[in-house]
Amino acid sequence: MAGGTAARGGPPGGRLIVIAGPSGVGKGTVVRRLLQVRPDLVLSVSCTTRAPRRGEVEGRDYRFLSVAEFDRLVADGAFLEWADVFGDRKGTLEGPVREAMARGADVVLEIDVQGAAIVRRRVPEALLIFLVPPSRAELERRLRARRTEDGETLERRLAAAERELAEAPGFDRVVVNDEVDRAAAEIAGILDC
Ligand code: 5GP
Repeated sequence: MAGGTAARGGPPGGRLIVIAGPSGVGKGTVVRRLLQVRPDLVLSVSCTTRAPRRGEVEGRDYRFLSVAEFDRLVADGAFLEWADVFGDRKGTLEGPVREAMARGADVVLEIDVQGAAIVRRRVPEALLIFLVPPSRAELERRLRARRTEDGETLERRLAAAERELAEAPGFDRVVVNDEVDRAAAEIAGILDC
């Protein structure tokens, strides 16, 4: 179980909390709700090489980088984790995460399943939460409703989701996103333990 390092006699500091799950499960929505009920949490802002979507703000939703800028950070060892997610690179800078934790803040990473596996290896004490859909049919419905993907990408995302759902046993907790408020409340409850 993550956290309580001070209570265990280790250095004081916040916890690292990873919320991962297949594309379309609703991670972003649940995390936004979680931050409303737990405003003390710090959400890590990822870097990405994908173009901003309408309404996305630099530095709030992502740090939008060129491939060259991203690769330079990879070469510098600046990422706690990074992965190629459906053709775009996404990564978590280690420095800001460690600084926030050193201030005592609990830091939330909303990342994909590959990234969660890297965090598991690099920060074994991190708390890994796996968000799953209530059913595969519901996940497909949510992915279709998002309409950010063309048909081919939708099929790829569904196939990836099938593979990723099999990764659940590697996580500390599995939370079903059947309803956003309920799922966020369950995660808040896990963090309170
Ligand atoms: P989107 O492009 O829709 O914002 O995100 C697509 C996927 O990338 C989501 O599954 C999201 O969790 C994942 N993602 C976002 N930031 C990161 C990150 O820093 N690292 C990793 N590994 N995945 C990320």
